[in-house]
Order: sequence, then structure tokens, then C-alpha cells
Amino acid sequence: MSASSPTTILLVEDDEAIGRPLTGALRGQSYDTLWAVTAAEALELVEESPALILLDLGLPDLDGVELCRRLRAQLPATVIVVLSGRAEDVDVVLGLEAGADDYLTKPFRLPVLLARVRAHLRRQLPVPETAGQPAPPIRLGSLHLDLGARRCEVDGQEVPLRPKEFELLAALVAEAGQAVSRQELMARVWDAQWTGPTKTLDMHVSSLRRKLAEYGEDPQRIVTLRSFGYRYDAPNGSLAG
Ligand code: CA
Repeated sequence: MSASSPTTILLVEDDEAIGRPLTGALRGQSYDTLWAVTAAEALELVEESPALILLDLGLPDLDGVELCRRLRAQLPATVIVVLSGRAEDVDVVLGLEAGADDYLTKPFRLPVLLARVRAHLRRQLPVPETAGQPAPPIRLGSLHLDLGARRCEVDGQEVPLRPKEFELLAALVAEAGQAVSRQELMARVWDAQWTGPTKTLDMHVSSLRRKLAEYGEDPQRIVTLRSFGYRYDAPNGSLAG
């Protein structure tokens, strides 16, 4: 495929009544749209390097959460949006823990889905540099964030963060010591027009804490502010910038 080929979206959905109008709508927006009706087909289409995957959790040949985990392992930078037909929160939570970036509960309205897709793809573009100046790296104690390279290090060791985890950490660290509301975080990291549930945020904060802890950073630096949001507490004496 040439570098100038349009953005590829992979839809994984076994229900034709959903898949047919959805692929039509996505192609109508000029996305190069692939449609897999089984997990096996989805895993083959990974080779097409989709920028975004819409993933139904109820598939005939493999549990959707397990498929999500495998897709995430093969495509670390691809946005995965779970389409959950199951009302149970636990499936959504499992999907997010398995590496999904976002979810929509069926039935959803097509314009809402298309808006969400656009927002995700827009955020996937490289961060624009202000007047040719790359954003300065941030150092807080043992934590080092290079915004231009999108690299997070703890004591010189790179922490493998997914795109949304990196953006979330960057948003918190940029306001170190200050409370940041849930709505502001949702707007900055996910979608400016966000009005939906914010469980996605909590899931990303817990995986961020887990990953930072694995690399020896104190996970409690990300402080939960009940009914408000989060705050990143820098270690004493360290300065941002
Ligand atoms: Ca299904």
C-alpha cells in the first residue's frame, strides 16, 4: 500500500444488519473500510495496519475480549473502539483492560459513532509543533516525558504506554500539583464534545498507575479526587520543565 492511501478502518462485526450500514457510512466518509465477520478474519486483516478498529465483543469464533487482547498485542498504536451489545459493565471493563481505547454501547446512532471515529483519528495525528518548536521535555523526579517523541521514561527506562495513556499522563503532569477535572481530562484526551460516561478515564488511570509502578514510580502520585478528577503530585523539590 502506498503512503498516501486513505485511512484504513477495520470493522469486526458478525451482524450484517449492523455491519452493512456501518461499512456504507464509513466508506461514505472516504475511509478505506475493511469488514471482518469473524475473529479469524480480523486477525488476518491486521496486516493492513488499520488506524482504527471497531470491535464487536460478541463474535462466533472467539471471545471478543480475547480478540481485543490479541489485536492490541499486534497493533500497539491502533485505536480500538469496542462495540458492546452486552449491557453488563463488566464486559466493557474487561474490554478496556484488554487494551481498548473507548467503547460504544449498542444500539448506537451512526452520527455519534462517526463523530467518535473522527475525534479518535484526529487525535492520532502527530502532535503539531508550535512554530517549529518541539514541546520541551518534562522532568519530575525520576519521571521523564518527551512530548515530541511521545516517550515516557522512569529512571531512564522507557515505559510502554498506549497513546491515550501517554496523553492522559501528559495532561496530568502538565498541571502537576493542580486538580484536573474529569471533564477536562475527557475533553483533552478523548473528545472535546464528550458528554458520555467517564469509566474509560478510570480504566486508563488504573492501567497507567500499574505501568508506572512496574517501573518503580510511585503510582500514588496520581491522586484520585473523589467526585472531581485527578491530580499529579510531583515529588518534593522537583520542577516541571
Ligand atoms: Ca455480534
